[in-house]
Amino acid sequence: MLDQTRIDSLRNIKIPSQGLLIDGSFTEAEAGAVMDVISPLNGEVLTSIAAASKSDTDRAIQSARAAFEDGRWRKMAPAMRKQIMLKWADLIEAEALELAVLGVRDNGTEIGMALNAEPGSAAGTIRYYAEAIDKLYGQIAPTTPDLLGLVHHEPVGVVAAVIPWNFPLMIGAWKLGPALAAGNSVVLKPSEMASLSLLRLGELALQAGLPPGVLNIVTGTGQVVGETLSHSMDVDVITFTGSGATGRKLLEASARSNLKRCYLELGGKSANVVFADAPDLAEAAKVSAAGIFRNSGQVCVAGSRLLVERSVHDEFVAELAKAAAAMKVGDPLDVTTNAGAVNNEGQLKQNLAFVETAQAEGGTLFQGGARLHGDTGGYFMEPTIITGVAETHTIAQKEVFGPVLAVTAFDDEDQAMQLANSTDYGLAGGIWTSDLSRAHRLIRAMRTGVVHVNTYGGSDITVPLGGVKQSGNGHDKSLHAIEKFVDLKTAWIKL
Ligand code: NAD
Repeated sequence: MLDQTRIDSLRNIKIPSQGLLIDGSFTEAEAGAVMDVISPLNGEVLTSIAAASKSDTDRAIQSARAAFEDGRWRKMAPAMRKQIMLKWADLIEAEALELAVLGVRDNGTEIGMALNAEPGSAAGTIRYYAEAIDKLYGQIAPTTPDLLGLVHHEPVGVVAAVIPWNFPLMIGAWKLGPALAAGNSVVLKPSEMASLSLLRLGELALQAGLPPGVLNIVTGTGQVVGETLSHSMDVDVITFTGSGATGRKLLEASARSNLKRCYLELGGKSANVVFADAPDLAEAAKVSAAGIFRNSGQVCVAGSRLLVERSVHDEFVAELAKAAAAMKVGDPLDVTTNAGAVNNEGQLKQNLAFVETAQAEGGTLFQGGARLHGDTGGYFMEPTIITGVAETHTIAQKEVFGPVLAVTAFDDEDQAMQLANSTDYGLAGGIWTSDLSRAHRLIRAMRTGVVHVNTYGGSDITVPLGGVKQSGNGHDKSLHAIEKFVDLKTAWIKL
């Protein structure tokens, strides 16, 4: 699938200015307002997207509400809804490379990763939830014989989905799949840093037969579009992936408006814990390097803290540094690239500032630490390793969301877990050991939503992804995700 010639034929295609998807057609924002899309590959203007106003966003919410109330989707036969979503998945798959290249030009992820993680994952996710539609049953309660207790699963109504820039199609599909499968209508707000591939996904949904108004896509800023959605009295559920700071605002807006349910998938500072008895230290080093440096560290579950047993610390860090140095960072549309661009200039500056602070606080810059390929105008950064990091250092506590690894040595299992659990986050973690009992002990001890053992990253749609502590609430993926988008209704019947 990764055909460089085809990719090159797609990389310079002119992208027209993009509109808002409201009630089944693409329209301009109020007064024709637009915002530039800057490509992280060269810092140049790629195209523009509509900058929706509050009234544009309200229009999209009303479109979703009307579609929900008249039942054009939720009352459709489940088998028919399934067919439409399956067709949508097929269309995404048929256009996978075009979608991937479009997304990469917008957000900078290396194409090798983007193809699988974006359209590949989105098609699989939509198909998974499509298949679930006609397999979900209500329940009959174990009552006494003179009564019948029925539990109906009902769609909640209008769902707002607010998406970040790192994997727009994958994360967008994690929200759209279960929300639509459950019969809801959706207003989706892409990140202003990565809207293009999601807009195309919306077009494909219409082509597949999704009725107008069931999926609306509103581009623009978080301050206008996101705030309008979160304060709306007509949005029943908000499902969000992004930063903790924005997540807090959503909860506050919910409390100030209609108490809409808020599901938050937030950041992480995940600990990847390597014991001296890891099955294969060289392999662990390679996988650990990929686990922090792929997509330039812009992965929510990135193993951004390496905790390594002191007896193998120097050997392991040297191996990992070798693997990092071997990664090719650069043009994300070159199929041989291992890590593409940082998404935007602000994020790049923030990454570099974290490296400065780490050193000022006593960490050692072991490798990397600088911008790369500045002459291209693009936002590239070296895979960076900071050693000698203490638990109290900023780099051990705050999410960078960039290719920066913080390394700390530990002496025993208890200390390893104390360090692993020493941040406000609880998204993911890793354990490398040959000791089965230790692995199970530490799976229990690690306060995270995901634990990888003798691997790092990956997983598929069959398992939930969600955080504990300040990494969020609720889960994306798996059949559990559908629970966020249904209400349980009890019917209590005297026979
Ligand atoms: P962000 O919070 O800045 O933006 C996310 C979305 O929220 C964007 O669409 C943005 O426009 C919108 N937004 C911004 N301000 C808003 C407001 N006041 N009201 C409503 N919406 C608003 O996050 P980001 O920089 O796009 O993404 C990076 C973050 O996402 C990182 O913290 C990363 O860890 C996290 N993330 C988490 C997961 C997960 O599954 N837990 C997955 C991917 C990314």
